[in-house]
Amino acid sequence: MRLQFLGAARQVTGSMYHLDTPASQFLVDCGFYQGQDHPRGQNRRDFGFDVAELDWVLLTHAHIDHSGLLPRLATMGFRGEVITTPATADLCELMLLDSAHLQEEDAAFDLKKWRKHGRRGPPPLPLYTVADARNCLRSFRSVPYNRTKELARGLSVRFRDAGHILGAASIEVWITAAGRERKLVFSGDLGSSARPIIRDPQPPEPGDIVVTESTYGDRLHAPVEQTTAQFEQILKRTLTRGGQVIIPAFAVGRTQAVLYELANFLREGRIPQIPVFVDSPMAIDATDIFRRHPECFDEEMNELMRSGKSPFSFPQLKICRSREASIEINDFADPCVIISASGMCTGGRIRHHLRHHLRRRKDTLLFVGYQAAGTLGRRILDGARHVTIFPGETHKVRCQVEMLTGFSAHADRTELLTWVEAVGDGAEVIFCTHGEEQAALALAEGIRERLGVPVYVPEILDSFDLLEPRAGLSAQDGSVL
Ligand SMILES: [Zn+2]
Repeated sequence: MRLQFLGAARQVTGSMYHLDTPASQFLVDCGFYQGQDHPRGQNRRDFGFDVAELDWVLLTHAHIDHSGLLPRLATMGFRGEVITTPATADLCELMLLDSAHLQEEDAAFDLKKWRKHGRRGPPPLPLYTVADARNCLRSFRSVPYNRTKELARGLSVRFRDAGHILGAASIEVWITAAGRERKLVFSGDLGSSARPIIRDPQPPEPGDIVVTESTYGDRLHAPVEQTTAQFEQILKRTLTRGGQVIIPAFAVGRTQAVLYELANFLREGRIPQIPVFVDSPMAIDATDIFRRHPECFDEEMNELMRSGKSPFSFPQLKICRSREASIEINDFADPCVIISASGMCTGGRIRHHLRHHLRRRKDTLLFVGYQAAGTLGRRILDGARHVTIFPGETHKVRCQVEMLTGFSAHADRTELLTWVEAVGDGAEVIFCTHGEEQAALALAEGIRERLGVPVYVPEILDSFDLLEPRAGLSAQDGSVL
């Protein structure tokens, strides 16, 4: 019985854990490596196990760094099932098809270069195609939150609220072998308990072996009220001078969080009654999926929906699905808010809005999410005076540029420690993954101080015997705390 860390070890992307038990083999998550630190080839590597022998993938949530390699797994011979919550299954349809489109686009671009530069080596192929993604989606089986599901003799699972994005779950896994039962708990990505819309994280009952994320293991977030107040101030300042507010936002989660705040401001008369444009087909589809899953909402959100005050349909909300509707926004001269994707300005319709608004001093470009190094969003945030949006065009940046950091969908250090204290008390070992090294080590130190149990920050490919996990720990050098 072994647990092996195949990704998200001392880094934040590529989540993948492999479990080999007498009854079955399964993965928890099957995620993409993302970001400029990862060469594209990293997602093409060998999985390191016999894919055809794999029975299940337990999926914590739909983010691509957790689900993005599922279509590739299917093309490599996976014939098992992907087990996840109903909302995650719906979001995956949106996100995996979108990811496949991007893979095909990238490959078409690479193919042009390959033809131009002497056709050296084999022609570039997409990592997977839209057809592959559709094929993979057929293997999804959903299990509602809080219901124990026996997948096989000696293997049961249960999904609990992780409070991170719609459908996100922590997963409890019970494995019985050789007359002994082991309970494993995988945190998945944990959300912040103060965020609206979806329910707060619900820590599972304690496990023998706990694998926790540690993205913000060394940091605290600003209180939610502070972020809301700053957002209101930024809107008021811009609207008072007759400007427009442009918000690049991730289609899933962040767009809906921003709409929630805006709907509140408008309903309570805290800002003028201006139109709010949502200009991203993916964000519109994602919002529809939110509407279909009230089982994921918290009390407050359900109350809003019941009383006809949905943050996803209010009088000032203008949905722009078609290209024509998107282009028409340019003719709108009065104060308004425009929400578009992608969140880091690397693609999508947001680039057309930037082209139109960057030069306008009255307008505000408001970032509500992390801007990775090397992205257009990061260059603007870092104060670039001129930027290239489309090849061969340079644009002056004259608008106001603002950043709100408090919209994070991740738990901060205090929230992570609270969760681990509930789940890890009495555990044999706790593993900290899904965090940059510094964050993971800082969280590990905090857990050890509070709980006094062994905490380990695994390296990629480290593996442990589930019956005697501590025996494996002493053999590893350095990081046992
Ligand atoms: Zn996530």
